[in-house]
Amino acid sequence: MDTHGNIPTEAGAASVAGTLLQVVEKVLGKAAAFVPLHEPEFRGNEREYLMECIDSTFVSSVGKYVDRFEQMLADFTGARHVVAVVNGTAALQMALHLAGVGRDDEVLVPALSFVATANAVAHLGAVPHFVDVDPATLGLAPAALRQHLTNVARLTSDGVINRATGRRIAAVVPMHTFGHPVDMEPLLELADEYLLPVVEDAAESLGSTYRGQHTGTFGSVAAVSFNGNKIVTTGGGGAILTNDPSLAKRAKHVTTTAKLPHRWAFEHDEVAWNYRMPNINAAVGCAQLEQLPGKLARKRTLAQHYRNALEGQPGVSFVDEPPGSSSNFWLNTVRLQAPYPEQRDAVLATLNEAGYQARPAWTLLSRLPMYEACPRSPLDVSEALEASLINLPSSPGLADPRA
Ligand SMILES: *Cc1c(COP(=O)(O)O)cnc(C)c1O
Repeated sequence: MDTHGNIPTEAGAASVAGTLLQVVEKVLGKAAAFVPLHEPEFRGNEREYLMECIDSTFVSSVGKYVDRFEQMLADFTGARHVVAVVNGTAALQMALHLAGVGRDDEVLVPALSFVATANAVAHLGAVPHFVDVDPATLGLAPAALRQHLTNVARLTSDGVINRATGRRIAAVVPMHTFGHPVDMEPLLELADEYLLPVVEDAAESLGSTYRGQHTGTFGSVAAVSFNGNKIVTTGGGGAILTNDPSLAKRAKHVTTTAKLPHRWAFEHDEVAWNYRMPNINAAVGCAQLEQLPGKLARKRTLAQHYRNALEGQPGVSFVDEPPGSSSNFWLNTVRLQAPYPEQRDAVLATLNEAGYQARPAWTLLSRLPMYEACPRSPLDVSEALEASLINLPSSPGLADPRA
């Protein structure tokens, strides 16, 4: 019997896949058409703003929608400054650059994340240094990181040095997994002790707060994504958040080719990037942000439906928002309990064949071929989560009353 912890049988495996399928059918109804994991939704002023943008001819890197989008984001998150860019990966790369990360530095990143977290580090010529996550938040584990730094790091006048590689550890990147906030307080304390800049990967957590404060406003600088699968989309896009006016000024400068203001001359004072968000994308973003509060409420309702339907079900548990935090529930997630991770792929097959898109967590970054030689802490929790997490369909529209 599965509930008694004995060796799983064929019947046991069928039962956990069957249990989850029943839960999903109860929450979402029978799948008439394929139900994607997370669909973009355009129910507001998107068309109107887009047409206005095209009619104005200001479709590119200058225009009122970019400014308005940045202001709306600042108002919503409480970040003092926002710089909109072409995507979340570029935002994170720039955030790390602004925090002082450079060639041959190491950056502490969670092993359980989307590949962009490590790519943003690598694009700067720096090296990701993988650390473990917390089973309660799915994000960076402050206690495990403290232990790891005690083991491998030396604090010198040049900063934190990895004793094994001799390289400088230049920043730490908490990522708010699936919208659930990292336990920021102990992490900020630790970063303070080691004088480590905190650069938040808030790509997934627009609308999520930790102790009432918006994610992406705790560290020195943060990145948000507006890719098509995120809670707010601009087609493609991202933003840099910071409370530091001089970092904000630098952010704008390095993402717009470091051009010096002049009415006609082309003067540029450093090697920089063309990462500015086009006005036409920001037009969509403004309409999307107007709908964010309503979307967050509907996503909370959908999470409540999953939570209720999963309660007391054998072999699976709902990954809930951590205490003291409010999650945007970007992707609803269940965790298979031992011994069911062995049956994960069978569960995924059952759900997908029934028409509900379900996906595993990411392959750990520390296992990807381009990163498998990178430094790391013990990754026991990340490995256990990698094997046991399943994301379920989470589009806000799934909370709408069924016809
Ligand atoms: C989506 C995402 C990114 C990158 O955003 P893009 O806009 O797709 O470049 C970075 N980190 C995490 C954790 C993400 O989920």
